[in-house]
Order: sequence, then C-alpha cells, then structure tokens
Amino acid sequence: MRFLPVFLDLQAGVVLVVGAGELVRAKLRLLAAAGARVRWYATDGNHDLGGLQASDAARIELAGGDPLLADLGGVIAILCAGAGDVGIAMSVRARTVGLPVNVMDDLSHSTFIFPAIVDRGDVVVAVGTGGASPVVARRVRERIEAMLPARIGELASFIGGLRKSIHARIPEFALRRRFWERIVDGPIGALVMAGRGEEAEKALREIADPAAFAGANDRGAAEGRVTLVGAGPGDPDLLTVKALRALQDADVIFYDELVSPEILERARRDASRIPVGRRVGKPGIGQDAINALLIEAAKAGQRAVRLKGGDAFVFGRGGEEVEALRRADVVYTVVPGITAGLGAAAQFEVPLTYRREALRITFLTAHKAKDAETVDWSTLTDTRMTVVVYMGMTAAASVRAGLLAAGRSPQTPVGVFARVTRPDAQAAVGTLEQLPDLVQRIDGGPAILIIGDVVAHSAPWRHSNLTQAISDLLEAAE
Ligand code: SAH
Repeated sequence: MRFLPVFLDLQAGVVLVVGAGELVRAKLRLLAAAGARVRWYATDGNHDLGGLQASDAARIELAGGDPLLADLGGVIAILCAGAGDVGIAMSVRARTVGLPVNVMDDLSHSTFIFPAIVDRGDVVVAVGTGGASPVVARRVRERIEAMLPARIGELASFIGGLRKSIHARIPEFALRRRFWERIVDGPIGALVMAGRGEEAEKALREIADPAAFAGANDRGAAEGRVTLVGAGPGDPDLLTVKALRALQDADVIFYDELVSPEILERARRDASRIPVGRRVGKPGIGQDAINALLIEAAKAGQRAVRLKGGDAFVFGRGGEEVEALRRADVVYTVVPGITAGLGAAAQFEVPLTYRREALRITFLTAHKAKDAETVDWSTLTDTRMTVVVYMGMTAAASVRAGLLAAGRSPQTPVGVFARVTRPDAQAAVGTLEQLPDLVQRIDGGPAILIIGDVVAHSAPWRHSNLTQAISDLLEAAE
C-alpha cells in the first residue's frame, strides 16, 4: 500500500487547481460539489466553468498570473489536470514546501491520488488501487454502491447528532458501543433507514435506561462471548458472510497457524490477534491453555473469536473447545467454514461424489505413520467411496500400504492437493501406487490427499492425460 486513504478537511483551506480542458473541469465539479474552496489557474486562459451550478461556481476563485509564483498561504492541496509541463513544475514546488499534490494521470509527480468514491453523505467510501487501475476501482465502487443502503449516511448523522448526550448517560466505552450497535441493528436504525428520522429520535429519547438497553444486565452481552469461526482453506473470499461479520465484530482473535494473513486482514483493525497454533517443529500452547484463554476473554466481557483453518468441527478441535465453554457457562456460537477437502475439490475439480462411481465420502486423518496404522483400512475398500485424508503427507507410505493391504487397486487414482485456494496452490495426481512419490513432488504443505476413481475427473488429471496424449502423439509422429 503506497497510498494510505485519509480524509481531507475541505474547510481547512483552499485547494489550488492548475490546468485546462475537460479534465480540469471534471475535477472542479467534484471539488465544488464536495464544498471545497478552490482557486483556479486556467493554463489556457479560458475560465469558462461550463455547466456548473451558480452556488458551486461561487466557491471557485478565478486566478490570473503565473501559478508557479502563486502565494501558497492557506492552501491545503494542489491539483493539476491538463496542465502539461506547468503541472510538473507545480508538483516540484508543492513538494518543496510539503503540500500534497496530484498531477492527473502522472503517479510519479503525485503525492496523493483521488479514489473512486461512494458518497452517502456522512458515510464516504474511498476505493483505490494505488493508481494502478481506475477501472478496477470503479468496479469495486459499483459493488459497494449496490451493497450499501441508500440512507446509511443519514444513519451516521443521526448517531452523530446524539452521541454527546448518550456519552454522558453511558460513560463506559464497551457498553456504549453495544448501545449503538443495538440502535443500528434494531428497530430505531430501521426507522432512520426508512426515512423516519423524527420517529427514530423520539424512540431513542424514550429509552429510560440506556445502560440497561445496551444489555448491562443481559448475561450474554455483559459477559462477552466466543464465536468459533471456520476460516476456510486460505482464500479470504471463501469466508462466509457470518464469519466476516464475526471478524469485524471481534475484540480479540485467537487464531491457528493455518489461518492466512489475508484472512486476518479482514478483521476489525483494533481487534487483538493472538496466535495459539502449533508451528512446525514447535509445540503450541496446548488445548487446555487455549480453552482457558477463550473462557477468560469471554468472562472479561470481550467478544472473542476462535479462528481456525477450514472448519472448526473437521479435525479442528472445535468439539473440545465447545465442551470447555459449556462447562464454564460461556455463551458461544459456531460458524462453519469450508473445510480443506472441499476447497481442494472445488479448486481442482474433483467431484467427491459421482453418479455410480462414488457414493460415499470418508474424511480421515493420518497424522503420523503410527496413526495410519490404527486406521481400520478394511472399512475403506469400497471402490465407490472417495477417501479424503487430512494431515496425511508424512504418512503417505502407510496410507498406501493400508489401502493396498485392504485390497484397493494400486491403479486407484489419487491426488495430493497442497495449499489449496491460496495463490501458491499445487496439485500432483497419479495412482495409489505412486502416492509417496506424488507427495515428494509437492513443495510443502498443508496438503490433503484424495483417493478414489473420481480423481480421474479432476482438472490436473485431465491436464496430465492431455500432456501424455500429446507427447504420445509427438512420439508416434517421430
Ligand atoms: N479444520 C481444518 C483441518 C485442520 S487439520 C479443515 O477443516 O480444513 C490440518 C490439515 O488440514 C492439514 O494437514 C491438511 O491436510 C489440511 N489442510 C488445511 N488447510 C489446507 C490447505 N489450504 N490446503 C490443503 N490442505 C489443507
């Protein structure tokens, strides 16, 4: 991130605009509509403001003379559009005195850039791409436009107008935040969004005891809570809407080593983030200690999120944590996530079930060779069963031995799918016989094994067969 989004107070001074043509007029319209005071040096001498409304035009002062000699007292930012070399010289001047400057379509001479804007009054969303692609920024803006209720700005100013009086009545910060959340999420917020601000204000003023309304006596709210959240296999876009909401709402997040940094980035900025997972070669803090941390956080009134790779209830120790929370009488909820096996299936197009070929799926773990020995492989011989093995990289040879001994064909298709849904995802496909070699071909985990005829339908399989067919053809041609 080269450009940090900040919001400029347009009341603080004058924006100096230098340039000519339709480009500069577009920016003048934007600035005037936003309420800026503008001083404009038209580099071609044409000060025609075009279709600007009189009230907006009144805020634009038409300046004469050389902008490079202009008095910069009271100027808060400089903007050049269609100004040619004068713009570049202006940029040099601005930077010498430390004023923010934008030269349109010229990143190297700009110290700030204009985002795409969603404007809902007090609620303003700025979308930037670091200048890389305004088209992408506009697409993102369109999505946000579609998502945001039209009156969200009115809701913000409604709250803004009542903040002080509520502050006086609920001095405690966490309780006050809950109060506003209940307003925003409840019927009063709905009234504002429906354009019935007066009724909303009346209803709010009629709340006799704001602290009680905020849930001071409500056991769940006052004691905090724990949300077990499945983070999915890595791609942050695979978070569920609920998971995202829980992350945005969290005071503290206890996360596993499998949770990618991109996912943590989606969490509330000021939530504390505490790693509690096992690192390769290093033990974690232990399940009992994790349980204790969750309980402690909830009892301290915090909204704790326990964030796990994939799904909490698939080899994720979610069961143990829920039991501990129940025993401690802590309020909790569970948000499912996309488990790694499903992430792999989707990304590499492995249909885990398939008409008459695969009617059952087994998810199992074989962490070490020792675990693999305790698996009852005889239950996995049904050729119409797809077997998904978690934590199976190091035990690959034992997995093969177990399945072969139980009578599965050495020709059974298998896939090793690593770091699925992440940018560096990788797949190796072959037959059960080749399983340990396939694992060797992978540059590190986490990886999941999928065993069964359906792997032959996968994209990497089709691709490798295609490659094989082409090289067969080439060989035949020689
Ligand atoms: N609760 C998790 C599983 C945790 S066990 C879930 O539902 O996905 C850890 C194992 O999950 C790893 O050893 C690996 O087999 C698998 N795994 C987790 N994330 C993965 C990923 N992005 N790609 C491939 N396998 C993954």
